Amino acid sequence: MTEPNGPRLLAGTAGGHRLDFAEHVATHGSLPLPADRRESGPWAKDLVAQIGLSGLIGRGGGGFPTAIKLGGAVEGRHRTTVVIDVMEGEPAAQKDSVLAAFSPHLILDGAEVLAAALSAKEVKIAVAADNPAAKGSLEAALAERGQPRGRGLDMSIGTPPGRYVAGEESALVHWLDGGDSRPTYRPSKPAVLTIGRRRAYVENAETTAALALIARHGGAAYAAQGWERTGGTALVTISGAVDSPGVHEVAVGTPLGQIIALSQPTGTPTGILLGGYGGTFVGPEALTSPWSPEGLRPVGGAPGAGVIIVFNESSCGVTEISRIADWMARESAGQCGPCVFGLPALAEDLALVALGRNKGRIDVRLHAHLDIIAGRGACAHPDGVVRMVRTGLSVFRKDVAAHLEGRRCSCAGAPSVLTLPDNAGELAWR
Ligand code: SF4
Repeated sequence: MTEPNGPRLLAGTAGGHRLDFAEHVATHGSLPLPADRRESGPWAKDLVAQIGLSGLIGRGGGGFPTAIKLGGAVEGRHRTTVVIDVMEGEPAAQKDSVLAAFSPHLILDGAEVLAAALSAKEVKIAVAADNPAAKGSLEAALAERGQPRGRGLDMSIGTPPGRYVAGEESALVHWLDGGDSRPTYRPSKPAVLTIGRRRAYVENAETTAALALIARHGGAAYAAQGWERTGGTALVTISGAVDSPGVHEVAVGTPLGQIIALSQPTGTPTGILLGGYGGTFVGPEALTSPWSPEGLRPVGGAPGAGVIIVFNESSCGVTEISRIADWMARESAGQCGPCVFGLPALAEDLALVALGRNKGRIDVRLHAHLDIIAGRGACAHPDGVVRMVRTGLSVFRKDVAAHLEGRRCSCAGAPSVLTLPDNAGELAWR
């Protein structure tokens, strides 16, 4: 595999080394920021132009072009609070946690870049309460660098409950504004999110760190490692049927099979779940596809939040889909019909298929439930489950057919390759 050879997010962290502030500056160089308010406007415009050149897209899952998002906020000239999302509620994702643990200053640099571009006085960093390693590293980093230079910027860390949907943008802002960590209903997206009387500008931790690289090296240098319209390196978390699960930094556009090889897959991949438990299953034909939005689109996939879960011939695809759907049903915020009624019904259908019980045409009921749930949640949680189930049923169609005919598939009873922690259950939302 071609090693990324430009600006790198995990530079200097080999072997699990955490960069303190002096090591961070020695590794990445000092961060260029506007000297005073008079320079801020032109500097922010140039920054947005450089981000446009870089081809950076959001690394939190949405994949939206960062130049358009930040450019719109800069043009809006609203009083703004910057929010850095290190929640990573997806259990199969570890990349933001690894970044926070080993290169926390790159996240804090990116937060300063955003604050300067938006003339913000406050940065709030949200880390899940059950992630003490990331929280401790970021707290130490804040202490190591002292308060940001001369602009009266206040940076603080908040710890919302560690739940799947608590990192959703509106849930995060609601919690930071004193509410609970459930998504807030937004009938017309994109909605304006506020903390107190200020607009909230929310950015994912890895995207924020990438901004610190672009501010230093410029858009062209960053884009040189990418593929087609998407630039840079990205962090991926590989798990499932592999000998060496973990987080790797790869150039965008690296073939999916080469990325998976970094974690030493066991057996022959039969399906890959991309993006997380609300992501997309692709078949083995995707192994030669460039890992990027453009490269994965022809096979129906997308990088999402950089999650790659590998399944091989020892896994029962139907049973694994059923396990994920059941877990996701228990992680809803319990405030919309598709989550409260639809996801448990869907999980029950899948459990029956997994058990080979097809009384009353369970497959018809399953597809009816998928159709009813799709597009009806206040947030993207139920749609993510529908996407995962639909694509999984397609990729593992032979397993599905065997189960619907009441035959045991060849891998029935195999242990799960998934990482599914205990559900948050009655854990408080505040
Ligand atoms: S769709 Fe589900 S997770 Fe999203 S707000 Fe509604 S109940 Fe909560």
